[in-house]
Amino acid sequence: MSAEQIRAAIRDVPDFPKPGIIFKDITPILSDPTLFKATIDILTEQVRAAAVTKLAAIDARGFLFAGAIADRLDIGMVPIRKQGKLPYQTYEQSYDLEYGTATLAVHRDAFEAGERVAVIDDLLATGGTALATAQLIEQCGASVATMLFVVELAFLNGRDKLPGYTVFAPVVY
Ligand code: AMP
Repeated sequence: MSAEQIRAAIRDVPDFPKPGIIFKDITPILSDPTLFKATIDILTEQVRAAAVTKLAAIDARGFLFAGAIADRLDIGMVPIRKQGKLPYQTYEQSYDLEYGTATLAVHRDAFEAGERVAVIDDLLATGGTALATAQLIEQCGASVATMLFVVELAFLNGRDKLPGYTVFAPVVY
């Protein structure tokens, strides 16, 4: 099972959630146990190599992948959530979207000071979500060792917003 087979399973959905956006639908990976396992295998090796002690999983599709990786490596996972969802004290970080802004939050006590963290999400587009996540992790006193995605939309240059961070995705468009 290769990255090429994972790529072939990803479905393009034009004009979702709004006109002009081609949504990369990863649900066919989730529904095929061989593909899902292969995806988790690839990401797990990256996390292992980065020698982190925690995963930061981005709301919501990042949770699906991070949970499986955390179990494989016997490490903890921290949800980075949309504003208003976390029950305890939070740090919050706003960032610009194409139209308007969004806000992500993390529990203030989610990471130990100095802890090395891997960021996990399904897809890197413009990079704003990943950058806000990194800022939250650093505000907690931890550091970002690597950022891992299933898919990177390289034509949106998300990496340019993430200088100094290691970024990896097995499937690149
Ligand atoms: P960005 O902040 O622009 O890098 O957007 C990344 C976040 O938005 C990720 O959590 C993705 O799940 C989601 N996203 C953005 N663009 C797409 C797309 N074309 N297809 C699927 N998900 C997307």
